[in-house]
Amino acid sequence: MSYVIPAPIHPSVPVTGSVDTFPVHRIYCVGRNYVDHAKEMGHTGREAPFFFMKPSDAILPVPAGTTGALPYPAHTQDFQHEMELVVAIGKGGSDIGVDEALGHVWGYAAGLDMTRRDLQGEAKKLGRPWDTGKAFEQSAPIGPITPAAQAGDMGQAAITLHVNGAVRQSSTIDMLIWNVAETIADLSTYFTLPPGAVIYTGTPAGVAAVQRGDELVGAITGLDTLRVKVV
Ligand code: MN
Repeated sequence: MSYVIPAPIHPSVPVTGSVDTFPVHRIYCVGRNYVDHAKEMGHTGREAPFFFMKPSDAILPVPAGTTGALPYPAHTQDFQHEMELVVAIGKGGSDIGVDEALGHVWGYAAGLDMTRRDLQGEAKKLGRPWDTGKAFEQSAPIGPITPAAQAGDMGQAAITLHVNGAVRQSSTIDMLIWNVAETIADLSTYFTLPPGAVIYTGTPAGVAAVQRGDELVGAITGLDTLRVKVV
């Protein structure tokens, strides 16, 4: 028996200091998980976060020391960056307790939840799904994944995004409304998390549009820097 069409290539992400790669199963994203970003999107900053997904082949892996080419997508005049800490799940499970959640983490990476904000805004207004705004190809750039033991405690890490050398987003991971352990625990009550799930944990304030030619540099303390150029 064989496949009737060529099987898709399985997306994977480089691992810091290794020739091995991390296979991506599902991409989960957390909405409004920093108070200052929730406020800039017109909310109080106290609502519970919520989840949406991107397909696994939306991942755009950018190896260390390189600059990824990020295509400017069709159907938007407002292509925005959201700089985020990404959590890579190594051990799956459901109903994972907050106390045990970090034991399910294989590693961490710097990521961008790229968004067609005009399409997302239209979908919000009409009560429609966000997929065209959020879940398009190459909408999830990611730097190399650093193993959790090597990354250390991410709780106090700084997170920044520069565009063409100017700072656009700057915060710390301890400003997350729901921290990494709480996010994994809550998400795992809705879904059985498989090994290979990656979670974009939400963005701080400062989201804004990019144009073709812009260079984005995303940095999180202790992790490889993510560099992409919009083409
Ligand atoms: Mn986001």
